[in-house]
Amino acid sequence: GATIQLEDLTKHYPGNPSPAVDSVSMDIKAGETVIFVGPSGCGKSTTLKMINRLIEPSSGRIRINDEDVTDIDPVKLRRKIGYAIQSSGLFPHMTVAENIALVPKMVGWSKSKVKDRVEEMLDLVGLDPREFHGRYPRALSGGQQQRVGVARALAADPPVLLMDEPFGAVDPITRDHLQDELIRLQHELHKTIVFVTHDFDEAIKLGDRIAVLRERSHIAQFDTPEAILTN
Ligand code: ADP
Ligand code: ADP
Repeated sequence: GATIQLEDLTKHYPGNPSPAVDSVSMDIKAGETVIFVGPSGCGKSTTLKMINRLIEPSSGRIRINDEDVTDIDPVKLRRKIGYAIQSSGLFPHMTVAENIALVPKMVGWSKSKVKDRVEEMLDLVGLDPREFHGRYPRALSGGQQQRVGVARALAADPPVLLMDEPFGAVDPITRDHLQDELIRLQHELHKTIVFVTHDFDEAIKLGDRIAVLRERSHIAQFDTPEAILTN
């Protein structure tokens, strides 16, 4: 894992009178799973995208292991951060294997290492490599697509994993299963995970700490599930 620090992080989208994220500060420890839980539109995705440098903050700073993300080379940042999103974000014109291989290839892994890694990742998320390797995303169920999305996010073994409602689009039984798998993975891999959801039960189940967010990502509470349940 790696530490993540947010310092007075603010985002104004052009044309919006109020900021989407307003002066958020937070320290995330190495290896912990922090859940952002809050209503739709409160700025959860915007915060995650800023950490991943998919969008630039209007002001404030983000540090990963004490290094300002703006000082990290973009390819190195892809190695540091895995990103999994609700819609799975798989590229439809690429096979399962090509999708998973994307970031490892981008950061220069050898062909044989990438090939082994794709199989390892498919095993990890419970998909038989022989069956799923060459399939296109449209030939997978929603839950299978999300598994591949998680496999892709983990492929280059990043210390940080950002997950934006990664299980949002699946039925409750599959979601329960994927949540259990994430807990199992976390016991093995000790990533620093920032996980966005609007589902309080999911937050309680998965979080080491939970940030309860209000409008503009104001942090109403930031504590362990036990402490939050007793307050
Ligand atoms: P959440 O992930 O909590 O649902 P978002 O971060 O997606 O919230 O959005 C926070 C606020 O910023 C919302 O009011 C949303 O309408 C607005 N917003 C999000 N993306 C954009 C954008 N690209 N341009 C303008 N406003 C945006
Ligand atoms: P672009 O090539 O347009 O700059 P990016 O390199 O930011 O786009 O992202 C390309 C695709 O990879 C996007 O669809 C995004 O969902 C996915 N992606 C972005 N960041 C990561 C990451 N850290 N790990 C894995 N996939 C990512």
